[in-house]
Order: sequence, then C-alpha cells, then structure tokens
Amino acid sequence: MNIIFLGPPGAGKGTQAVRVCEALKIPQISTGDILRAAIREGTETGLKAKSYMDAGQLVPDEILVDIVRDRLAQSDCANGYILDGFPRTVPQAEALEGIARIDVVLELQVEDEKIVSRLSGRRVCPACGGTYHVSLLGGRTSCEKCGGELIQRKDDAPETVQNRLKVYHEQTQPLVDYYQGKGKLKAVDGDLGLDKVYAQIMEILGAHA
Ligand code: ADP
Ligand code: ADP
Ligand code: ZN
Repeated sequence: MNIIFLGPPGAGKGTQAVRVCEALKIPQISTGDILRAAIREGTETGLKAKSYMDAGQLVPDEILVDIVRDRLAQSDCANGYILDGFPRTVPQAEALEGIARIDVVLELQVEDEKIVSRLSGRRVCPACGGTYHVSLLGGRTSCEKCGGELIQRKDDAPETVQNRLKVYHEQTQPLVDYYQGKGKLKAVDGDLGLDKVYAQIMEILGAHA
C-alpha cells in the first residue's frame, strides 16, 4: 500500500509513521529526515535546503521531487511505503502523479494552538531520528532507543513555528481538497493520545488492505 501522511508540522506524522511502518514492514520516507541528513553530510542539496529549513520555509519543489523520485525507485519501496511530509504543495502532488500510484492519504488533524506546545516541547535524537516530548521524558535527556543526546530542532523555536503554520495553511492545506477530490482522503483525529491515533490509522488502513 502506498500511503501519504498529511498534516501540519507537529501533527504526529513522524511518530505514527514509525509505528505503522514497523507494523506493515514498509519504509517510512520522511523528506524532512532526508533533507536533514543531506545538511549533515554537506551535500549540494543540503547546502541549498538549509536556509529555507532554518527559516521555516518550504524547500523548492524541484529539489523535493528529485529526492522522492530517486527514493521511490529503490527496491525496498516495491511493496509500499509511507510518504511523511511529501507532498507539501500542489505542484509536488501533481509531480507525484507521474511517479507513483497513491492508495490513500491520511490527514492528521490537530488545531494550531496544540501545535505550538507540541513543537516547542519536541526533542529529537539526531543519531536515530527518535522523537519525544518533554512532557513525557521525565527529565531524561538521552534517547531511549540508542542513548544519543536529545536536542531541540532549530526550526522548533516559537517564532519559526508560527511561520511554519502559516506556510502550512497557505501551501499545504490545499492538498486536503486536492486529495478529497480524488476520493483518497481519510481524516484522522490527531488530537488524541498516541495509541488512539494509531488505532484509527490501522482501522482505516485495514479497510484498504
Ligand atoms: P510531525 O512529524 O507531524 O511534525 P511528530 O511526530 O514529530 O510530528 O510530533 C510532534 C511532537 O508532538 C513530538 O514531540 C511528539 O512526541 C508529540 N506528539 C506526537 N503525537 C502526539 C499525540 N497524539 N499526543 C501528544 N503529543 C504527540
Ligand atoms: P515537520 O513535520 O515538523 O514540519 P519536517 O521534518 O517534515 O517537519 O520538515 C522540516 C522542513 O523540511 C520543512 O519545514 C521544510 O523546510 C523542509 N521540507 C520537508 N519536506 C518538504 C517538502 N515536501 N517540500 C518542501 N520542503 C520540505
Ligand atoms: Zn536515538
């Protein structure tokens, strides 16, 4: 099954994608993770992407489409995948039509007010990509999975979060109508506990399997 996770920054896309991918044994394709890896490695793509990401802006469509085209051509994508964070614009969605056949788009719905506290409390493990929230860490500063030191993403600073929400509403939210029009959109209430959100997703995917 080829799945898209759509939703504002902080909606829980990454958190849920990790679990669902483990359960379905398909890869999680997070364009944010791919871009951050490119920045760490100092590649040409990373150099181009960094200033946009730090400012909470979207990286140009051509760069993302190239990344996703290359990634989906790899053999581990043959039995399905979750696209987490792509597409984020209508031109990206249109380009994807020429690359992949998408089965279902899950929209994780969370209100803006909740997003701010989710993102300001987000802590990530640069070593393994693990994602946590301070409210659940109980003072821990290292990763439960690999022991790496947790950090706060630069673009999770409050000023940048406001900008990312604006960018989401202007450039990404139109994809809700886009995929609704294609009969592929399924809404998920993302404002529940982790297990309840997961259960909704698996129920929808079960119906599609
Ligand atoms: P996204 O990938 O959509 O940007 P994340 O999965 O990184 O979102 O989650 C953003 C933050 O919110 C993280 O700190 C994560 O631990 C927390 N979070 C994710 N899902 C939930 C949930 N259902 N309830 C409360 N907090 C959540
Ligand atoms: P979040 O889910 O918290 O918004 P991501 O890790 O998905 O964060 O993305 C981080 C940043 O990477 C975005 O703010 C944007 O600059 C860039 N990015 C990721 N995916 C895309 C995309 N599909 N199109 C344009 N920019 C992207
Ligand atoms: Zn880790």
